[in-house]
Amino acid sequence: VALALGIDVGGTKILAAAVDDAGEVVVEERVESPKDGGSLFDAIGDAVALVVARLGGRAAEVHGAGAGLPGLIDLEGVLHDAPNLPAAANSAAGAELRRRVEAVLGRRMRVVVENDATAAAAGELAFGAARSVANAVVVTLGTGIGGGLVGNGRLLRGERGFAGEIGHMVVELDGPRCACGGQGCWEQFASGTGLARLGREAALGGASPLLAEALAARGEVRGEDVVDAARRGDGAALDVVAAFARYLAIGLSNLAEIFDPGRLILGGGLVRAADVLFATVPERFAEHRRGAGEAKVDIVVAELGERAGVAGAAALALGLVT
Ligand SMILES: [Zn+2]
Repeated sequence: VALALGIDVGGTKILAAAVDDAGEVVVEERVESPKDGGSLFDAIGDAVALVVARLGGRAAEVHGAGAGLPGLIDLEGVLHDAPNLPAAANSAAGAELRRRVEAVLGRRMRVVVENDATAAAAGELAFGAARSVANAVVVTLGTGIGGGLVGNGRLLRGERGFAGEIGHMVVELDGPRCACGGQGCWEQFASGTGLARLGREAALGGASPLLAEALAARGEVRGEDVVDAARRGDGAALDVVAAFARYLAIGLSNLAEIFDPGRLILGGGLVRAADVLFATVPERFAEHRRGAGEAKVDIVVAELGERAGVAGAAALALGLVT
């Protein structure tokens, strides 16, 4: 059995795992992402050392290592922009990862670095919901929106490696400002942040006692508050969910027009509330797709859950997907 180390770096935690060539996680470890100033790659090295220690003799079966990082990564493995990990911006991520992994394993190793959403798409392509189609878009719905594009059975990376920044498609010209510097980006509406923002507006509007309560108690409305209130039948929260679903469907419809995917695959933290948040999405999506005639696109939930990133990074390191 061939193993690879897969590493998924988030804003708050780093998940590292040894994954086999069937996509099974053999060992996994979590460490905290470094707070301001700390070295991201030293933390990754610590996580890798923990995984390799638990592998024991099986460390000899490790054939490579891959990491998914939250930022723009070019085709040479340089991390250009990482809003959640500013200390790591403009670093030679591929070289830094190679140094840590080879120090732990004591030998030369195939090492790859990718954008985290692209790594998640690689996981779904190798082992999950994108396995059975040649063309797919994997939409990671979390704090923001990440995207991984599959075309003709391969990952689409773009000219520099920056393809798939689908969260920054503009869906409202005069919409709210986005961290990217733009305005009205899709992730200002159809992500966890977007859901919270729409919820806060509803709370301030006075129509929702439950959301107003959440705002008063914590000074903010979270996406979970909207989901909870909607589950309890709060009318304004249900309106927020309906608006959220419309925006989600608009973006998915745009993606379908551009890529003609066999599947649109929804992953990320918001999947936990799929029953509430996604219920009306296929219907809204179909309304926008009238022009496409009979073209049928499946909208499905990702299969690998929070392990998509480590599985995908490992699949890339093993060369199972390209
Ligand atoms: Zn943006």
